[in-house]
Amino acid sequence: MGKVYLVGAGPGDPELLTVKAMRLLARADAVFHDSLVSREVLRLIAPNAQVIDVGKRCGQKLLTQEEIHSLLVSAARTHEVVIRLKGGDPLVFGRAGEEIEALRDAGVDFEVVPGITAALGAAAAAGISLTDRRAASQIVISTFSRGTEGAGMDWGAIGSTTTLALYMPGPDYAEVAQRLREGGLPDDLPCVIVSNASSAAQQIRWSCIARLAGEEKLPAPALMIVGRVASRKVQEISKAFWRGESRDERAPRPIVS
Ligand code: SAH
Repeated sequence: MGKVYLVGAGPGDPELLTVKAMRLLARADAVFHDSLVSREVLRLIAPNAQVIDVGKRCGQKLLTQEEIHSLLVSAARTHEVVIRLKGGDPLVFGRAGEEIEALRDAGVDFEVVPGITAALGAAAAAGISLTDRRAASQIVISTFSRGTEGAGMDWGAIGSTTTLALYMPGPDYAEVAQRLREGGLPDDLPCVIVSNASSAAQQIRWSCIARLAGEEKLPAPALMIVGRVASRKVQEISKAFWRGESRDERAPRPIVS
């Protein structure tokens, strides 16, 4: 009986893999990867390993989640090192919870190897601190697209010192802007769109909620960082936004007055 490693492939740049991930890829017997995993990372897989793309392409699932579970379980019965390779970190929007449950139920040994999640890759690309003490006190990792599970955003948790990392924003920026406004975020709140963070195709757009609808759509995968830290002039911004004009009673006061 082998072991299943749920491994984070990071945002794209193979240099951002953990040493452990690299070592495991080099001795893998079977690798089941998502479509988000970069070609450069896939090149590090042991040449004799069985490599299967179980990801989604153009919204069309190649395999159902249940099929992935049974593939992992049966691979662990015949191989020593089985890798479930996911973009970013396996535990962030990666359906790892269901896979861990299936492995536990089947009595298969597993281990999680963290990776750099897209929000951190995007922040590094943009050169902004997600928790810049002049403007932020918390990070909320969220998405609007939670399939059948509804909107998922708890607006009560979002205040003037929140940095919102919005995964899977989709191509309709007007709708994203609308939903952010509905959540009570001000029009002039900065946001930055980062596409293909850490790869050669990386693109960064500095914007704000009011301008978002008119921005050129960046290719997927892309992520938005919304909040006062998403400005290149945090010091100015931290003083300008939300000052004494709390349209939203839930919003905490800025840290810096
Ligand atoms: N487990 C992944 C997230 C999977 S959800 C992680 O921890 O990063 C897929 C979403 O992640 C994409 O729609 C996009 O919003 C974001 N994403 C993944 N890789 C990205 C990258 N290189 N640049 C920007 N966003 C990325």
